[in-house]
Amino acid sequence: MISYGKQTIEKDDIEAIIDVLNGDWLTQGPAIDLFEKDLCGYFGSKHACAVSNGTAALHLAAIALGWSKGDIILTTPITFLASVNCIYYVGATPDFVDIHPESYTIDVEKLELKIKDYIAKGKKVKAVIGVDYAGHPCDWNNLREIADNYNIQLVNDNCHAMGASYYDSKQYAVEKADLVTQSYHPVKHITTGEGGAVLTNNSKINKRVRILRSHGMIKDDSLMEENHGPWYYEMHEPGYNYRITDFQCALGSSQLKKLDRFIDLRTKVVNHYTKSFDNISVITLPKISEKVRHAFHIYPIQIDFDKITLNKADFFNEMRSRGINLQVHYIPVHLQPFYKKNYGFKKGDFPIAESFYFNTISIPVYPSINDIDLLKVVNDLRSILGS
Ligand SMILES: *Cc1c(COP(=O)(O)O)cnc(C)c1O
Repeated sequence: MISYGKQTIEKDDIEAIIDVLNGDWLTQGPAIDLFEKDLCGYFGSKHACAVSNGTAALHLAAIALGWSKGDIILTTPITFLASVNCIYYVGATPDFVDIHPESYTIDVEKLELKIKDYIAKGKKVKAVIGVDYAGHPCDWNNLREIADNYNIQLVNDNCHAMGASYYDSKQYAVEKADLVTQSYHPVKHITTGEGGAVLTNNSKINKRVRILRSHGMIKDDSLMEENHGPWYYEMHEPGYNYRITDFQCALGSSQLKKLDRFIDLRTKVVNHYTKSFDNISVITLPKISEKVRHAFHIYPIQIDFDKITLNKADFFNEMRSRGINLQVHYIPVHLQPFYKKNYGFKKGDFPIAESFYFNTISIPVYPSINDIDLLKVVNDLRSILGS
């Protein structure tokens, strides 16, 4: 089965893990610090805190930024559930802004209108979570300006765009947003099995995230009310066990060295698709802003299902019967029964996201896909579409 995404694990990745397994530490050891340093180096961040997964990173971000009941947090409906669930976890109120029809990321003009709408109602937006969907960075310059003008916190859920560039910088995420979250799930650009991180230049936020990662335990003398001795710790707010292991971090450091190469390989795959599908009228390929280098975490093409005889489910099933497992990114989060029932969202609220969902399908893109499989994807897709 050819899948829409897949990890690439090489011999030196495996050796890096074995080295740690042969050592003294399985968890809370030196490989974690090293991985965090590597993350800081690549992404240009003052601080990085590696955690158990990307969802944990978002949850800790929500707490560390002080979100709570009554706070309004805006994000995009075209994202994974976790980007929105983290708002619910802390009791804040999620709301959405429709996507831009070309970048598929949060529409900054609509965002500003929404913020003004809230102001007119006497309410203030606390934070915005931008998601660099599919690997295309959001319009971060404008997001930063809006955040500054309206005194709003800015988060980058950067899980799709590690290694992407914005105005030629791979370090845009931490530079533009107050806090950045990443995931190292196997379908993402680099993997630690499960894993994630919070990156920020803000040392206060970093400190709180690190304490919350491990049950809320404080061991730093300067932060404690008392100190009974070397065993002593204090808890000022309950945290979680969101720790990552040493052997995962060894894999992470090894993978991070390959990120640029992985993105080159993903770009090659996409260039092949661009050549193959450019002249097919029922297919719309993702448009890429000149300001960015896309990281191609996924490659969501749009098929004009209104103009062909197959519907999306038929198309999906036909590809699967030929050994190609596609995926859809994403079902707009505001249409999830939980969010409809609890926050009153309904069909029609974010029409661009909804029509994007109707047409979109993610086709395979990963570094190790071989020419035969790539050709098969192209040929099967064309033959099913009759073009
Ligand atoms: C993968 C992903 C997450 C969650 O990461 P996990 O490591 O799977 O918990 C959050 N947001 C986005 C946009 C993602 O793609």
